[in-house]
Amino acid sequence: MSTSAAHLAGTVTLVTGASSGIGEATARSLAAQGATLALVARREERLESVAADIRASGGSALVFPSDITGDGEAVSLVERVLAETGRLDVLVNAAGIMLVGPALDAPAGEWQRNVDLNVSALLNLTHAALPHLVAAARDDEGRGVADLVNISSVAGRQAIGGAAVYSATKFAVTAFSEALRQELAARHVRVSSVEPGAVATELTDHIRDGVREHNQAWYASLETLRPEDVADAITYVVTRPRHVAVNELLVRPTDQV
Ligand code: NDP
Repeated sequence: MSTSAAHLAGTVTLVTGASSGIGEATARSLAAQGATLALVARREERLESVAADIRASGGSALVFPSDITGDGEAVSLVERVLAETGRLDVLVNAAGIMLVGPALDAPAGEWQRNVDLNVSALLNLTHAALPHLVAAARDDEGRGVADLVNISSVAGRQAIGGAAVYSATKFAVTAFSEALRQELAARHVRVSSVEPGAVATELTDHIRDGVREHNQAWYASLETLRPEDVADAITYVVTRPRHVAVNELLVRPTDQV
């Protein structure tokens, strides 16, 4: 995949989940393309460290520590980002959790936690950001296009037993992305769904005891993707010319069946 340097000069990108894994790698990659990064996650020190690295490489980044599942948090977060940066050209919804395991044994609240972050927070943040993405696409001084990238999953294309609710959340992300794409295409806001297979990140750390070990053994049996591989795909999506929309990208490790 080829991307030329500084494609995103003068633009602002908000990345959720920027403290680790895919979100962090994406933030670094888009900063290298000239975007000013608004880094969002709960762990402030991790965000500060990513921002310091970006600045040391000549890029620009601001941190916005936030639990995006909080009531009213999406609206207030987008307001804070706009107050500090003045615009929003790209939103990457990468924050997510994968609390999987047999449905019959699911602890109370586990299903809801998947839904709260992977679906509700993503919807709320998208809703708050959309008017600003539309404005950025319309801005004569800008790229003439804006981007919303939602991180779905292989589990958003094929339902997986033992991951019923996680699959349901990712099907929701894929469906929402496609419907929104149809609504926003004429406004030059591109909506993309990126669907990774197994990526070596902290995602599996939060799985319940007894299931986590099995899941991590499966990851260890593969030559997994690195977060940078998915960041590369996302960077490709948001650096296409104005008339090119990459709507969906499924990226698996070569040896993942
Ligand atoms: P990580 O666990 O490394 O990253 C998850 C990110 O979400 C962290 O930055 C975390 O930061 C943030 N986050 C979690 N809860 C909240 C919250 N309440 N508010 C704000 N931020 C939050 O996992 P990945 O990078 O792998 O996951 C990124 C996305 O990729 C997810 O949507 C996941 O479903 C998807 N995905 C991952 C795959 C994989 O194999 N790794 C495969 C397919 C899809 P903090 O804890 O600091 O808040």
